[in-house]
Amino acid sequence: MPKKIAAGNWKMNGLVSDLTEVLEIDGAIDGLDCTTIICLPATLIYAADGDPRKRVEIGGQHCHPSPSGAHTGDVSAEMLAEAGAAYVITGHSERRADHRETDADIRAQTEAAWRAGLTAILCIGETLEQREAGRTLDVLGAQLNGSLPEGATPENAIVAYEPVWAIGTGKVASPDQVAEVHDALRAQVGPEMSLLYGGSVRANNAAELFALANVDGALVGGASLKAADFVPIVEALARS
Ligand code: PEP
Repeated sequence: MPKKIAAGNWKMNGLVSDLTEVLEIDGAIDGLDCTTIICLPATLIYAADGDPRKRVEIGGQHCHPSPSGAHTGDVSAEMLAEAGAAYVITGHSERRADHRETDADIRAQTEAAWRAGLTAILCIGETLEQREAGRTLDVLGAQLNGSLPEGATPENAIVAYEPVWAIGTGKVASPDQVAEVHDALRAQVGPEMSLLYGGSVRANNAAELFALANVDGALVGGASLKAADFVPIVEALARS
């Protein structure tokens, strides 16, 4: 069975004082049967690692393909791992858009994550224009082929389906839309790899999504910033 995973993505939000939210999540999910990850800004990972967490795992949000070098402003997978991360997001649509990252770039970042011993949370997703043109499955299949390297296993990779039009917009994909995509992804990645849905997941829509056969959890942006919003999502996953 794929692992159930609730992953939060804080994006470019949070100061050290906000790490109390991670501790609150950690306390509240004790005994729940699923993996919980918070992907923090790089500046917070070392501080979070010093906190007495028992259950919440820490991730980064991006890594450069190289282990070190002349890349001002970038962070390597090795740096994230040393700071205390066990996971890193690769291929988030905001990075594809803001930094023009291609599938080849994301493949190299995912390989870098593995080199440093991190599990990659690889994001793929179609734009509204691509969906309306009936190209969703073709686009996602090509992104996955182009960005998931050879050697992917259920231990070193998690795939997150994040329709671009549903991220941060309050528009969640319908259960039928999610099921169609996740069934196709399952056929592509095999029976054991965790498949997450991401895009405006909230406490009030999580259970319906987690009830779908090939949805093993969620990647959550806005609703992961506060324990009061995120914990009910983790609880819904544990119950599913
Ligand atoms: C995300 O950042 O990956 C995301 C899904 O954001 P939100 O939950 O805010 O739509």
